[in-house]
Amino acid sequence: MIRFDRFMAQANAAYYATKNPFADFVTSPELSQVFGEILGAWARYVWRTMMRAAENLVVVEAGPGTGSLMADFLRVFPHPAVHLIETSRALRAEQQKRIPHATWHDTLETVPQHPMILIANEFLDALPVRQFVRRETGWMERHVENAAYVEIPTDFTAPDPVGSIREVNEAARLFIRQVARRRAVALFIDYGAATGAPAETVQAIRGNAYADPLENPGEADITAHVDFAALANAARDAGAVPHGPVPQNRFLTALGLFQRGDALARNNPAMAEKLKLAAHRLTAPEAMGSLFKAFAITPENFPTPPGFET
Ligand code: SAH
Repeated sequence: MIRFDRFMAQANAAYYATKNPFADFVTSPELSQVFGEILGAWARYVWRTMMRAAENLVVVEAGPGTGSLMADFLRVFPHPAVHLIETSRALRAEQQKRIPHATWHDTLETVPQHPMILIANEFLDALPVRQFVRRETGWMERHVENAAYVEIPTDFTAPDPVGSIREVNEAARLFIRQVARRRAVALFIDYGAATGAPAETVQAIRGNAYADPLENPGEADITAHVDFAALANAARDAGAVPHGPVPQNRFLTALGLFQRGDALARNNPAMAEKLKLAAHRLTAPEAMGSLFKAFAITPENFPTPPGFET
């Protein structure tokens, strides 16, 4: 028997180590080069204007996937000091093809203590969550045995009615606190509700279709919605300021997604149709425009970063 979050961590570690995730689902940087370019423009502006071109800047990405996001980012904001946090050796090899000058890390801890801009797309959703279920007798924590849930009494409490499920992403909260203590400027793009009742959100994707998270661990990508309110609290606890979340469509549109796409299409008419479709998928509310959110963290007394003005 194993606690659910440990099960999820092991299953995902096996999945990212051995499978090609991009056969199972499509992420924003794989849809359009404009996505990474916009993040690069965001970082360039933050560094020049808001960090006053701080020396020794390190650019960090957590969970870089194929490395395409960072490759697109660096075309707009070329930078020598690039640090990638990636546990999968297979994906590191993929990333090295696109960003040969990067340095790799298993965690943020070993990244040099310098002024930092950190970006991450669909990283927090891959981190393991604990799951708690409210029963008549009290709260239980989910464990896994023989591909089935087993509930064990726990001292977790929350004022939710019987039948409720709560997810707690301790790994994501820890990561946010580490970023905050570094006084980094960080931009996370991920999916989850901005507010609303807690619910079960864990899902597994295998071959572009939903799968049972407990079956065939390591064969499917298991994710959970990001609890932005909890992460905002974690940031505040560690002395940083959270910004957003704002819907991805508002963030990308404010930063010129359509203008940049149009400019690229004019120079390369053969790409026009693909760029248009990608921009639609990134922004349409029924696609990735509204469930996906941008969320930033800055040190105290730092200006509001672009895209997060109210
Ligand atoms: N950002 C990419 C990939 C998202 S998939 C994109 O948008 O396409 C999640 C990424 O996070 C993968 O690169 C995976 O290997 C990495 N990852 C998952 N859990 C991790 C962990 N605990 N530590 C470091 N990297 C992790």
